[in-house]
Amino acid sequence: MSSIRSDQQTPKSSSDPVFVPVTGSGRSTDHLKVVPECRCLRDRIREAVDQLADGLDRTRPMVRHEIENLARQILIELDLSEGYTGWTMVAIGSAFWRDQVAGIPHDRRLLLLPRCMRDTAVCPAEMTVDGLQCVDCGACSLTTLKSEAESLGYRVMIAEGSPAVMKIILGGHVDAVLGVSCLDVLERTLDKILLAGIPCMAEPLLSGGCEETEADEDRIRELFRTPYRKAEVHTRSYVHLMRCAARLFESSELAELLPSRRSESSLGPMTDERLDALDPIECTEAIAYDFLARGGKHSRPFITLAAYDALSGDRCTGPDGGRQVDQIPAVVRRMALAIESFHKASLVHDDIEDDDAFRYDSPTLHRRHGMATAINVGDFLVGVGYRLVSSSSTDMPAETTADLLSLFSSAHTRLCEGQGAELIWRDARKKRLEPIDALKIYALKTAPAFQAALLAGLRLAGPVDELTESADRFSRHLGIAYQILNDLDDWNDPRDGVMAGKKTCADDLLSGRPTILWALALQSLDSSDADRLLATVESDEPPKKRIADALALYQKADVFTKAEQLVARHAARAIEAADAIGNQPLAHLMHFLVDAILDRRPLAINEG
Ligand code: SF4
Repeated sequence: MSSIRSDQQTPKSSSDPVFVPVTGSGRSTDHLKVVPECRCLRDRIREAVDQLADGLDRTRPMVRHEIENLARQILIELDLSEGYTGWTMVAIGSAFWRDQVAGIPHDRRLLLLPRCMRDTAVCPAEMTVDGLQCVDCGACSLTTLKSEAESLGYRVMIAEGSPAVMKIILGGHVDAVLGVSCLDVLERTLDKILLAGIPCMAEPLLSGGCEETEADEDRIRELFRTPYRKAEVHTRSYVHLMRCAARLFESSELAELLPSRRSESSLGPMTDERLDALDPIECTEAIAYDFLARGGKHSRPFITLAAYDALSGDRCTGPDGGRQVDQIPAVVRRMALAIESFHKASLVHDDIEDDDAFRYDSPTLHRRHGMATAINVGDFLVGVGYRLVSSSSTDMPAETTADLLSLFSSAHTRLCEGQGAELIWRDARKKRLEPIDALKIYALKTAPAFQAALLAGLRLAGPVDELTESADRFSRHLGIAYQILNDLDDWNDPRDGVMAGKKTCADDLLSGRPTILWALALQSLDSSDADRLLATVESDEPPKKRIADALALYQKADVFTKAEQLVARHAARAIEAADAIGNQPLAHLMHFLVDAILDRRPLAINEG
């Protein structure tokens, strides 16, 4: 394997292709997920992977496109089908992390087993949010694998990609993950775990499908029997900063950073009973604090914390990161909270403007408490954001406070302008839209929040004059790419046509939102097809028919491919901006954000 050089793993530059997931476009990766048929073939690939792994730079996590490139090269060198690419990628990921996993004691490791190994016809176990609750009936081998791993000290879940997995990781309960699953699930769920720098090894199942799948149980045992020994190299990891961002919303930290002005009862889940028991003057704060603490991916507060750390010694991503995050000053954590408070305020108002029914699996605030109360709570959250800044003014220089106020107010007004442009277009009779106008709206609507989160963290670490231009450019392209991916997600999987049961399918089209897909279609279609597309907006046809008509025209105009190309272009420009930054830890963070934020595969951390 000498011709496969580990320098191919170095951070990507602007000339590297940026990997963009394609499942929303109708292109499938199924042909790359073939499991090598016999053990001798699997061992042959593993041997090549192990040789390669010896030369990899383990000081930072590998990203998906790097692993894919290496897998493809191994298969070319072994003269094997590209169909084994997915399987080989998992083998590379596991070999990369083996030493780090070994450095985590068994009782700090999580083993994820697949529920599809059981026979559903006889299995009496219940499925809960924490996975399958095996009652050890003995009808399948899950019970023995589970008890063997537990006897070594493992925490075991029969859950694969359950949202509970990320909660356990971010809650700080485990420091390494070992997963057994089919290649589909591994592609969807383990990517982000790997990306965050959480040591992770996986063993793909031998067959796919959702029932009575086959597994190489000897390999699974080998996996969880990986002995504990001191790791030789520390791989850079954002997991401690992610945990720090998640902790901001726990009651104890909220009480410290954002003490209630009304009563202690402002913290805690907002049940009907609790609401009834409150004095009306306490209600606004209590509803707002509850919404602030609820759901969401906390990516913006994470960006603020990580940007501050990148310019303050880059300590929290190192081997002592767990202790170093405790040293992040309260004023930095308060600004991260302010960023989230502004974001949550915009969500409350956005839900009203779009009349969305659900947010974080619960009714939206205006559906639950009424329109007027929800508007008021949104306004209150804006006030909370500014209060967090003003209450920190004694903990930072006056110039920093002034810069942050200017940053937040500018982000706030630009976001309103972008949202306003979208609403005015939505309610207008004229539905023509040029792609450039859609992108301008995206730059205003989505980019300011990323920019404010990033620049706030940088400004708290010191003056940022020479970084501002690159950070602005980075945020603009990241925001635009993120919004285009949201547009693509709205159509989910066009191969299936109109997706029954997917409540959000083509919601943008039905609610008349201006999207890049719409603009690209109008740009490409001839005038009669463009008129047919325009007619879908005011048509009296049932939604299913309108969606099907628009989908056919979108496909005719090839807008899904064009939108993906735009995502790749803006992601590449964000990377260019990152590479223009002289500071290495900050450039690493920006690369990480491009990979993490522009990855559409679902995981609990990304639900909001
Ligand atoms: S051993 Fe557990 S998972 Fe397997 S069939 Fe019995 S209850 Fe279900």
